[in-house]
Amino acid sequence: ERIIHWFRRDLRIHDNTALHKAVTSGIPVIPLFIIDDTLLQSPRVGAPRMKFMLQALRSLDKTLQLYGAKLIVRRGKPLDVLQQFITETGATALHFNADYSPYAQHRDNAVTKSLKVNVHSYDDALLLPPGSVMTKSGDPYKVFTPFKRAWNEKEKPAIIETAFSRAMFDAHLGEIHSERILSLADLGFAATIDIPEASEAQAHHLLDAFISEDIAYYDKTRNTLVISPFGKNRPKGTSYLSPYLRLGLLSPRQAYWAARNAYRQTNSQAHQNAIATWVSELTWREFYMHILYFYPHVMQRDFVETYQSLAWEEDPHGLQAWKDGMTGYPIIDAPMRQLKAIGWMPNRARMIVASFLTKDLLIYWKHGDIHFMQHLIDGDPAANNGGWQWAAGTGTDAQPYFRIFNPVSQSEKFATPDYLRYWLPELKDVPDDMLHTPWKMEKAPDDYPAPIVDHQKARERTLAAFKAARGE
Ligand code: FAD
Repeated sequence: ERIIHWFRRDLRIHDNTALHKAVTSGIPVIPLFIIDDTLLQSPRVGAPRMKFMLQALRSLDKTLQLYGAKLIVRRGKPLDVLQQFITETGATALHFNADYSPYAQHRDNAVTKSLKVNVHSYDDALLLPPGSVMTKSGDPYKVFTPFKRAWNEKEKPAIIETAFSRAMFDAHLGEIHSERILSLADLGFAATIDIPEASEAQAHHLLDAFISEDIAYYDKTRNTLVISPFGKNRPKGTSYLSPYLRLGLLSPRQAYWAARNAYRQTNSQAHQNAIATWVSELTWREFYMHILYFYPHVMQRDFVETYQSLAWEEDPHGLQAWKDGMTGYPIIDAPMRQLKAIGWMPNRARMIVASFLTKDLLIYWKHGDIHFMQHLIDGDPAANNGGWQWAAGTGTDAQPYFRIFNPVSQSEKFATPDYLRYWLPELKDVPDDMLHTPWKMEKAPDDYPAPIVDHQKARERTLAAFKAARGE
């Protein structure tokens, strides 16, 4: 007898709920990953995240080899692949960790209904799964702060320790056909940017370094616009764990308990506050996944129905300038070029560029959401959608529509000259005090564009559009 563990967004062996259940069932396990053709064709999937995923699969395969096992990789439509695979291997059960996006829900429901074997789905991707944090009347929370209060009060699951051994895995994996772990080119993607090391070990290395050193400063450094978090000299800023949490190279329990243990071990109030702020970010991650689960319409349209009638602009030139980092506002252009170059952007910059696209250019948030999904290594349907709708003012906890970031004051407050000059080499000779507003120079650099919108006018246009949609 043999059973399957189907890896999806849980590309690790430690503290993996479904894998633990499978390998401790006493029946040998086949580790399987399916490269889903539907996702390959999706405009929401880009080469950088795919490259990170392929590297994570190679690394997972290596880890499994320590136990005489290997990762079997197949490609196709998951239900078809599973039906064929079960016939071929005679497997009697399928284990996996639940995924809460609408696409994954649909896929997993079809698999559970159609397969003739026992299907076991476990909650693993969140500390507290959808349905476990509800209001007193049993409804999902729509606002973050009360959600967080309820979330904080609930006990969190412990880390699962699994003592792996060879006997836990099927002894005949070598006889089962596996696609070699495919390259980007095999999957139809062009060569792309360098990505950080995608392994479970690297996730722990980053977590340990962050918790033992940088988290103490998190309250002060979280808004820093770092040039790049990847590479040897990791700047103090945030944890840079998002790609690892996204694909499950790190579990949320591992992240949470590392922080909680550090909290217990310090007597410093400031240190504790900084840790609590970081845990609150993990709570945002959970909140947006709950929102996506209970309100899947957010993938298609605004969370707040009132704004469905808002008259967004069709502005292909503005959109292109934003994507290319050619708006004439250094605080927009530097992070937009950073995104393309390294597949990541600091949270503060994400908020600023998202505000600019939706409030200064009045372009519908979905255009920005898709561009981010194509480029971000950590691109995640729930967090990205939540972040975009927040910035646009159409989501849960939305920025009140009349609060519109001023790109110049945001730049003065958060952008260092080094950050702006690094990503905008055209501005290398611009003096520090002119870097936020190069258009005000007597002789601005010729190869850098003038601002494509006037912020004050844009602000008025946006306020009018929101008021009209609200019937004011
Ligand atoms: P840290 O500050 O160290 O936070 C720790 C972890 O908490 C992160 O790794 C992430 O998993 C989670 N987290 C932090 N902030 C948020 C948040 N606001 N919402 C949800 N989870 C959060 N995050 C993604 O993981 N994927 C996305 O596609 C994504 N798109 C975004 C789009 C916009 C417009 C905005 C404003 C934010 C977006 N975020 C997204 C949230 C946030 O910017 C990133 O999680 C963060 O910058 C990642 O860096 P870090 O791991 O160093 O974060």
